[in-house]
Order: sequence, then C-alpha cells, then structure tokens
Amino acid sequence: MAGFTFPRGGIHPEEHKEITEHLAIEEMPPPAQVVLPLSMHFGAPAKPVVKKKQEVQEGDVIATVEKALGATIHSSVTGVVKTIESRPHPTMVKCDAIVIDRNPDAPPREYQSEDWRKISREKLLAAVKNAGIVGLGGAGFPTHVKLSPPPTAKIDTLILNGAECEPYLTTDHRIMLEHPEKVIEGAKVILKILGIKNAVIGVELNKADAINALNKAAKEASGSDDMNVAVQGMEVKYPQGSEKQLIYSLTQRAVPGGGLPFDVGVIVQNISTTLAVFEATVMNKPLYEKVVTFSGRALNKPANLRVKVGTVLSDVVDFLGGTRDLLKIVSGGPMMGFAMSTLDVPVTKTTSGVLFLNSKETDSDLHGPCIHCGWCMEACPMGLSPKEVGIFVEAGRGHLTERFGVFDCFECGCCAYVCPAKRPLVQFARLAKIQIKKHG
Ligand code: SF4
Ligand code: SF4
Repeated sequence: MAGFTFPRGGIHPEEHKEITEHLAIEEMPPPAQVVLPLSMHFGAPAKPVVKKKQEVQEGDVIATVEKALGATIHSSVTGVVKTIESRPHPTMVKCDAIVIDRNPDAPPREYQSEDWRKISREKLLAAVKNAGIVGLGGAGFPTHVKLSPPPTAKIDTLILNGAECEPYLTTDHRIMLEHPEKVIEGAKVILKILGIKNAVIGVELNKADAINALNKAAKEASGSDDMNVAVQGMEVKYPQGSEKQLIYSLTQRAVPGGGLPFDVGVIVQNISTTLAVFEATVMNKPLYEKVVTFSGRALNKPANLRVKVGTVLSDVVDFLGGTRDLLKIVSGGPMMGFAMSTLDVPVTKTTSGVLFLNSKETDSDLHGPCIHCGWCMEACPMGLSPKEVGIFVEAGRGHLTERFGVFDCFECGCCAYVCPAKRPLVQFARLAKIQIKKHG
C-alpha cells in the first residue's frame, strides 16, 4: 500500500517504538495523592471551586474557567483536598495546583452509557465542554472551541491524526489497536457536532495492525448511519503528524501561511482526544485519566499506562521499577518534547509520553559554527532557511529574521536533527520569535 505524504523536507529518525509498541495498555493503580495544576490547557488558568479539607468524588468539578478560553478540571480520585498551592509544573516551572489525598477505601466511580445518536449536536458539544477536553496531542487547545468553527468556515472533512510520528511514542498506536470501535464512534460524534459526513484517519504505515483494526471497526460500524470514516495509510516520515503536513498528505490542500485548518475546510483531532470525546459523550465521563507512553532505555519497565491526571512522575517511576543510568527526562517525544529536571511534576492532560533516556540515547556534543552545507534547508518541511535565523540570532540580530519566515517555523526539529555542526536551530528560532515580538 503506497503511503500518502507531504511534499517538502522531513526526516527519518530512529523510531525506538519497539520498546513499547507491543505492550498492551495497562492500568496504573491510583496513587495516594494527585496534584492537579490549574493550568493544563491553552488559555487562562482555571479557578478552584473547592476549598482545603473539602471532600471530593472522582469526576467532580474542582476548577473552572468562566469568561475566558480554558477548560474545566475534574478530580481524578475520591478523597480530600489537602492544599491549593504552587507546585512544580512540566512546562511552567511552577503553577498553582489542587492537591488531593485519595481515600483508599473509595470504589472507582461507575458511568452509564448513552446512545449519542439520540443526543442533539448542541448537547454533545456541551458534553465535550463540560468534560474539560483539550487537544491531548500537546497544545491543550480547548476541544469545544475547536469544534465550534466560525460560520463562514466551510468545513467538509474531519481528519483524525493517527500518525504518531514522534520516536518512542506509542499511545495512539495502542488506542487505535485496542479500542478501534471507540475511535470510530468518537469520530462519528465529532462529525455530528460539526454537521458533516466525512472523516479520514491518517495512520503511518509502520502501524499496519492499527490500520487493519480501524478498517475492520469502520466496516462494522458502516450502515448504521450515513457517515463515512475512511482509514488512510501514510508514509513513515517525520513530521507526518504535524497539522499542515498531515492535511496536505491526506487532502492535498495547503493551509496558507498564518492560516488555520478550517481555512481549507478541515478540522483535525488527535486520536487520544477522540477517545476522550467518546468517553465524554457516550459514557458521560470527564477527562481525568489518559493513556501515556513511558519509555526510554533508562526505565526498568517501559509501558503504555492509563494513569490518573495529576499522578506525580515519581509515583509512575516507582510503579515501573525505577531507572538505571538515567541522564535525561523528556516530556513528549524527543523531537518536540522538552527536558525536565525533576520527577516531582504531575502527568497533565497534555502529557503524551515521558522518556527516561540513558547516555546512549542522548547527544551532549557542543555545537560549532555553520558550515553552510544546506542540509537544514533541505530537511525543513516549511521550506525555511534555519541557518540564516541561527546566524542572525548569534549576531544579536534575531529581531530581523521575520524575512526568513521564522513565524512559520513550528519547531519540529528536523533542521537541528540533520545539522552536522549540532547547531541548536530550534532554540535559535524560538529566540528569534521572542526578539521580533520584543521589537514590536
Ligand atoms: S524547526 Fe522550524 S526551521 Fe527547523 S525544520 Fe522545523 S519548521 Fe523548519
Ligand atoms: S545544517 Fe547546520 S551547518 Fe548545515 S547549513 Fe544548516 S545550520 Fe549550517
């Protein structure tokens, strides 16, 4: 089967998926305490609606965002609010968080299923909002907002992102393989909310078992309505799962610079988010647990774990037998993730994976000057000139790099990956953007 792909740049990093791709999703027992940051979504931090010493049930609303962009937060355990205070955060260094001590005797909360076909699209959208769902692929943009495009947008296609092109990560692979029927149903719920009929799930061809499982589930679910969910294999090439590349690969539509997917009639949702939509609308279950890949050769027992949001990484590492020769902890994949300095941070709604890397998996070489080989330009999927941005930033002229299209850089890391001089081209691009904004 030939795979669809994007036309420009891209790389083939070592996959490292063999560490966890064959491991079935395992449930991690709830920890004794959860730490739920008030910021784990794009937008304003949520405001607590609970107080210290208050009893809460699993799934209860504990923080809301009233008049701004944001998402509701729910308790992931039954227990008592111990404190609300600043705690380490995976991306913000520190952030206010609600800390809940779990009641070890409380049974897990039960949820009743509902037939989403009998629910209006307005009520389905409200269920997504009330469940606190955000894009689980990383950015954390509130899903109910993404599913409410402006009336002028002519949406005709829903794309589900099953590329999972980052090395090591296997969360979406396992969800597609183990719960294909939920992914298909979740897609149909989103189609109903959007008022359209066609969805396509793009999956890289290194996940043939997931493609087969989805095709089977889609076939079994066809005929129950007039919606069409297709599955399309895509070439294995990083960054196949980035929004613009994915849309081009599957529809040959090019999102204009500075534009959004709905400018070309498309809405993109991630696989884990689609599962969360299924759980919110079919099972009435808010988003407070998620599947996360814990991988890397420094971890004694790598796994795809279903964990409570708010579980602190040190508890996960204890559950997975500890680490050996640990040199670096990365939240997310090695290409677009970020290094963390402590195990004291919780799993948030947007944690897709956590990597525990040893000395052989990390590169600590110092970078040298640009040798003008041009490899970074060849690798850039956006057709940019990362070397110029780097040279300008080093010369203290980062504020003049807008001419190189630096705002089209989505920090995929392809350029830095191929650079023989090991230049930190993504950091240069980030700095350039900050300096341009500073200069107005
Ligand atoms: S990080 Fe930016 S400049 Fe580098 S390859 Fe990706 S999009 Fe291009
Ligand atoms: S790949 Fe590195 S050395 Fe080559 S042109 Fe780009 S920045 Fe310079």
